[in-house]
Amino acid sequence: MTVIGHFVDGSMRDGASGRTLPVFNPAVGASDTSVALADKVEVDGAVAAARQAWPEWSKTPPLRRARILDRFKTLLWERADELAETISAEHGKTHADALGEVTRGIEVVEFAVGAPHLLKGEFSENVGSDVDSHSIRQSLGVCAGITPFNFPAMVPLWMFPVALACGNTFVLKPSERVPSPALKLAAWLAECGLPDGVFNVVQGDRRAVDALLNHPDVRTVSFVGSTAVAESIHRTAMANGKRVQALGGAKNHAVIMPDADMDMAADALMGAAFGSAGERCMAISVAVPVTDAVADALIERLVPKIKALKIGPASDPSSEMGPLITGAHLDRVRGYVGRGEQEGARLVVDGRDFRQDRQGYENGFFMGATLLDHITPDMDVWKDEIFGPVLSVVRRRSYDEAVELIHRHSYANGTAVFTSNGDTARRFSQDIEVGMVGVNVPIPVPMAFHSFGGWKASNFGDHNMHGMEGIRFYTRMKTTTTRWPTSAANDVQFAIPTLG
Ligand code: NAD
Repeated sequence: MTVIGHFVDGSMRDGASGRTLPVFNPAVGASDTSVALADKVEVDGAVAAARQAWPEWSKTPPLRRARILDRFKTLLWERADELAETISAEHGKTHADALGEVTRGIEVVEFAVGAPHLLKGEFSENVGSDVDSHSIRQSLGVCAGITPFNFPAMVPLWMFPVALACGNTFVLKPSERVPSPALKLAAWLAECGLPDGVFNVVQGDRRAVDALLNHPDVRTVSFVGSTAVAESIHRTAMANGKRVQALGGAKNHAVIMPDADMDMAADALMGAAFGSAGERCMAISVAVPVTDAVADALIERLVPKIKALKIGPASDPSSEMGPLITGAHLDRVRGYVGRGEQEGARLVVDGRDFRQDRQGYENGFFMGATLLDHITPDMDVWKDEIFGPVLSVVRRRSYDEAVELIHRHSYANGTAVFTSNGDTARRFSQDIEVGMVGVNVPIPVPMAFHSFGGWKASNFGDHNMHGMEGIRFYTRMKTTTTRWPTSAANDVQFAIPTLG
């Protein structure tokens, strides 16, 4: 059995801990590879390589750093198909969806190539008589990234291109369920001329994460994953004096107003609820039609579309939805559907019994798309993040009731409103207490030059990912005030200096 290893100091490394975990092909439901799980010694080795590479990399002119990333960007476009295939093989998402993820990741590299402009400092002449002042943004050192299974390339790409462009070095700990894409990214960066040690990948589980969180040379921690882990990583990293951004789970609601284009809303919900089998932190998992008439009109449009959904492996280009990530997760999602039924939901379409009958994929972790109606806020299917192809309908009587429902939830990652009324749209985007808002856009993932991040239990820390927030997170500011001896006053001052 092949064992997927690490990438440290410019080369692939076998695991040395003796601990491994099987890596599944979720479409087949079987595993013929495993991943090495790093222990503390291996993590320490990767951090040491990154620490050693940092002084020279941080002093490399920003333009030269950017040119390496520019080559990397070109190479990513050329090899996007290959990367997408690697993603689909371990994650299960369709090829088109994996290509979309790669594209969104490349956009962050495109943004990072322009970092020299953003790293320009500020200069003030004559802040006092013959005294000048300037501020610069400097790198911090070794940055760590800990990423989830659902975007094996895009989420790491939210982090390291910006970190590297700012002059930091990086240690990435990808999800143990999708270990290969990160290694491809590391090898391709090296091919583009990135010096050894600047970007490293350690595979592993909680033990590797703990080693990173407790390592004194790790200066920043960027995490994306479930809320319980995000909260604990935020707490530990803060206690250890590190800068931290930790993005957590989600439960995203789409409000459908009576004046919405109902066909547009139904199409948007299909992609947003069932794309990537609902395993997206920006998936719409709750539809909130305002009035019963809107709910009925929406469900009438959704049901035939759900029944016609093409569920299959990434190897079939006509597949619209792939499998779930593991057998255990499939059982968990099916369990939520059963629980919803027990709690009083109406099961409009039940995807639990879907069976993939094409040869070779019979044991894949596939589930059919599911639609639950008459969900209420006291039900677990509303409260919890299910992270599967399950769309819940919560009927509300007015706009205010819909907004109140969204505000009642602990998660606040993304949301959307479907309406043709400009006043409603403006009011919603101003008032809603959620980090990312779509107006007739179901998955409002900000572009690379904006920043990604939710509110409340969906995000811990002060900075969002990429865009200017990313530049701020991966740099620290230094301000120098300068006076030359010819203009210096000779007297000693004991009061706080005032320059004006
Ligand atoms: P996860 O929290 O199980 O794992 C994320 C990472 O943390 C992995 O690298 C994993 O190895 C590590 N990890 C897991 N348990 C840990 C522990 N106890 N201590 C330390 N490290 C641990 O998440 P997942 O199942 O891989 O991903 C799905 C979750 O990620 C969902 O909740 C989804 O909403 C969330 N997510 C959020 C965003 C966002 O931007 N907010 C984006 C993508 C995914």
